[in-house]
Amino acid sequence: MYDTTNVFWKILEGDIPCTPIYETDHIFVFPDIAPKRKIHLLCIPKGKYTDFSDFTKNATKDEIQGFWKGVQDVIRSHNLEDQGYRIISNMGSQGGQEVPHFHIHILAGEPVGPLVA
Ligand code: 5GP
Repeated sequence: MYDTTNVFWKILEGDIPCTPIYETDHIFVFPDIAPKRKIHLLCIPKGKYTDFSDFTKNATKDEIQGFWKGVQDVIRSHNLEDQGYRIISNMGSQGGQEVPHFHIHILAGEPVGPLVA
């Protein structure tokens, strides 16, 4: 069950401020409030999906295609392909997910380091 009290839904609704980086019908991208690297962006779909599995199973083809195209557009527009980057999606309690709205972290701008600390 999707929880509309989560902060990312409030950001999409305009109830919590953020600095938009990129937006289409299927994706919204903004900086993480507590960046873990020089570049730390969050990419979220506009629909109510709790996590990667929910999104992958239940989103429409247009939503899925539009979301990933947006992720790639942001990677390209920030010139990250040459220097490299990491994308992460945490899911559920053991995956360390804090906000129950599907999201991708893009970490870049400096060496990201080991996969797991
Ligand atoms: P998760 O642990 O769910 O994969 O990641 C949630 C991320 O959301 C964290 O990196 C956290 O810093 C970020 N975050 C939490 N609340 C806010 C907020 O109100 N605004 C922004 N921009 N990021 C947030």
